[in-house]
Amino acid sequence: MSACPHTSVATATAESADPCCAAPLPVLGRDVTVPLVTGGEVTYAALDYAASAPALQRVWDDVAAYAPYYGSVHRGAGYLSQLSTDLFENARRTVADFLGCREGDQVVFTRSTTDSLNLLAAALPADCQVFVFETEHHASLLPWRDARVTYLDAPRTHDEAVHTLERALADREPYGPALVCVTGASNVTGELWPVRELAAAAHAHGARIVLDAAQLAPHHPVDIADLDVDWVAFSGHKLYAPFGSGVLAGRADWLQAADPYLAGGGASRKVARRADGGVDVEWHDTAARHEAGSPNVIGAYSIASACKALQEAGFDGLVERERHLIRTVREGLAAVPQVRVLSLFGDDAPRVGVISFVVDGWNSSHFAAALSAEYGIGVRDGLFCAHPLVRTLLGGASDEPGECGAPEAAPGERSLNAIRVSFGAGT
Ligand code: PLP
Repeated sequence: MSACPHTSVATATAESADPCCAAPLPVLGRDVTVPLVTGGEVTYAALDYAASAPALQRVWDDVAAYAPYYGSVHRGAGYLSQLSTDLFENARRTVADFLGCREGDQVVFTRSTTDSLNLLAAALPADCQVFVFETEHHASLLPWRDARVTYLDAPRTHDEAVHTLERALADREPYGPALVCVTGASNVTGELWPVRELAAAAHAHGARIVLDAAQLAPHHPVDIADLDVDWVAFSGHKLYAPFGSGVLAGRADWLQAADPYLAGGGASRKVARRADGGVDVEWHDTAARHEAGSPNVIGAYSIASACKALQEAGFDGLVERERHLIRTVREGLAAVPQVRVLSLFGDDAPRVGVISFVVDGWNSSHFAAALSAEYGIGVRDGLFCAHPLVRTLLGGASDEPGECGAPEAAPGERSLNAIRVSFGAGT
């Protein structure tokens, strides 16, 4: 593919994006106007995709078309129940295809990435050791609290990441199960992590690996077999499918050896009273084992719709277009001497459309509030649920933040938190 020549800030804006790259995918909310403190109104600029991306128009249309036919899943003989069950199970196959799942892999529908990783944490074999970089989002950092966790220091290069992991795995007790949890793309810096190399290192040391693809999947193809990771987790609402679903996909063995994540109908195949008055339960050995309760069929269906839309649009064009937008934003920020962009792996590191920065002399919370109030630009400020990473990137500044929070700096003081702009296939 030829390189996109339109790299100058002067010639490129999000609206005029780039004739040589793919068009943005139609999303909802493009025409929403918001009030300004000055009294006027402006079209909202959604630049907070990393928190929740706008819905694809295609997802919205598919859900609207299905809504009149909505029915219970796995729980009815009526036509609409059968239809809904088919759509739910087809959604599973679509996601498996989107992720390039291997024979025997299972796709479990969850509520979100956080839910998926907590599910996996609950399914770890006894004595499992977990290895996780301190740079992870809290969703990947925290669910392992019942296991023996080794937190790895923030690396400054891809090679250092791999060597750090290799050293830690080599030092572990040689027997017993181990799991590495790693993000595909940082929700703070947008930087890609060397997933394939980390997976190879994990497997070479007899460990398994789960990929937190919450920020990767909306921007890049994620192929579980090609990356050779054992599980992948992602969220619908970051993949342009905002109906409350997520995915955990991958190896069936640990999932099926574990107790159900939730106990209840749908997860159980057979339940019977025992002579002693207790209850015997036979649990399913399919994905249903971890999907107790009536499933979120609209959520699953909308994720499948988003997967198809992204596959049909083709990631090559979307990636190329996003690269162009990243260059534009980074060049614009670099032109402002007071701005410092946060980066772990350096300026040349491959990245997705997530960029965090601080502005000298500005409290990031005030800056973000001003972008909203004065310009109608929606960004995020804070520590982005990755407190240790943002502290490292800010050079250790920051005291006790609130939850996912925004610690205050006095006006003119060094910022204790950061501002994040993020965009994607709809930008
Ligand atoms: N992992 C990463 C890298 C994220 O950016 C996020 C959310 O921002 C999560 C996990 C958690 O996703 P969710 O809030 O959808 O569970």
